[in-house]
Amino acid sequence: MGLRTLLFLFALGLVYLALRNYLGRGKTLDKQPRTPAFRKTLRCDHCGTHVPSEEAVKTASGSLCCPEHATAKESVGVDPDD
Ligand SMILES: [Zn+2]
Repeated sequence: MGLRTLLFLFALGLVYLALRNYLGRGKTLDKQPRTPAFRKTLRCDHCGTHVPSEEAVKTASGSLCCPEHATAKESVGVDPDD
């Protein structure tokens, strides 16, 4: 009877270890939450706002956040802030 109990406990331990290993492996296979992709930003030469490069208005003199600032900068000519 004592040996049977011992074998039962041994089998129970093996099941526990197998289950823990199985669950642990499942955890590592979980997909990590994706971090948002880094977006390159450009600084507006007129107001200093940083805008995504694909949304920025690019001119020969530099990059701007919007068409209004592009025309404003061209009409002013020299940036008074700098
Ligand atoms: Zn701007």
